[in-house]
Amino acid sequence: MKERVPRNPRRRDVLCKACGALLATIDDTGLVLRRGRLEATVRGDIHASITCYRPWCQTRNALNLKTDRGPPSEAT
Ligand SMILES: [Zn+2]
Repeated sequence: MKERVPRNPRRRDVLCKACGALLATIDDTGLVLRRGRLEATVRGDIHASITCYRPWCQTRNALNLKTDRGPPSEAT
């Protein structure tokens, strides 16, 4: 999982490991997914997979993070 550090250090972007598409963001509220009018916020221990929305990519990105304790961490 690639990461980049935005202006707000408490917010991080979750990018597709293959093409770099923005899949979700992580901030104080948890993992935030937005697609059009859909918005989902997930908190706690997260073990999820996000498939890239780009039709020519569709890479499966594994996501493991804890948002309850300290700064979020993740591993792929
Ligand atoms: Zn992708």
